[in-house]
Amino acid sequence: MPELPEVETIRRDLEPLVVGRRITGVEVDPGTLRLLAGVPLETLRAGLIGRTIRSLGRRGKYLLFELDDGRWFVVHLRMTGRLVWRERSAPPEPFERAVIQFDDGHDLRWSDIRKFGTWRLHASAAEVIERLGPEPIDADLTPRQFRAVLAGRTAPVKAVLLDQRRFAGLGNIYVDEALYAARVRPDTPAGELSAAAADRLFRACREVLERGIAHRGASFRDYVDGQGNEGRQHMFVQVFRRTGKPCYACGTPIERIIVGGRATHFCPRCQKRARRRAGAPRETRRAG
Ligand code: ZN
Repeated sequence: MPELPEVETIRRDLEPLVVGRRITGVEVDPGTLRLLAGVPLETLRAGLIGRTIRSLGRRGKYLLFELDDGRWFVVHLRMTGRLVWRERSAPPEPFERAVIQFDDGHDLRWSDIRKFGTWRLHASAAEVIERLGPEPIDADLTPRQFRAVLAGRTAPVKAVLLDQRRFAGLGNIYVDEALYAARVRPDTPAGELSAAAADRLFRACREVLERGIAHRGASFRDYVDGQGNEGRQHMFVQVFRRTGKPCYACGTPIERIIVGGRATHFCPRCQKRARRRAGAPRETRRAG
């Protein structure tokens, strides 16, 4: 599933191509009208055709196309959505379901095998952003603010990191990688992390997201960038989908458990459970 680094890569690819371009057509396959979340296709057409893209932003995993009438066209790729820039004469993409046509003879082609993606029109970007927590890579997010979100929560720390209302942009791949880098066991209750462990986790979240962007995203299955090419981040993962393979740090086989309903990968030796803070508060011990 595309997470912050994948969506940001697409945004950076598409921004110079779509900004200033006028939308001349919108087509959606009748079998995929779920994309519009109940809004009639004619309503979307009326809202988009003739509009010029003023900017292309992103928040969390949402792409935010600002239109010249002040409204926002908001795209979420969900599980398998792809948005690829092509010349109008190019052959259809695999599993192509919808297209937005532009005045310079190019299309944005939408493919989505699982059909969970969404296209929506919003009166303001705030309608989307207000529901989301801060991004770990926000320049003004402090370690103290990060710790405050975890504090007092009994849910597994992984579940808190995945909850877009707490933090925006993280998904299964980058959460597993950040917890490994921070040496925090994924099923540790969030409120039981020591301040030192929470600070390590904050830095790790930033680092894995920034590295993911630098590697243009992770292409385990369906993700491609705005030009249809795969990213490279999947070649650098430490634990994600490495079940049974040796930890790069200690050689212990990586384990797979379910946390918060999601497949979760971790090293049982490097990521020991934090000690409860009864009595002397203790740092999560490093193995070895
Ligand atoms: Zn290990």
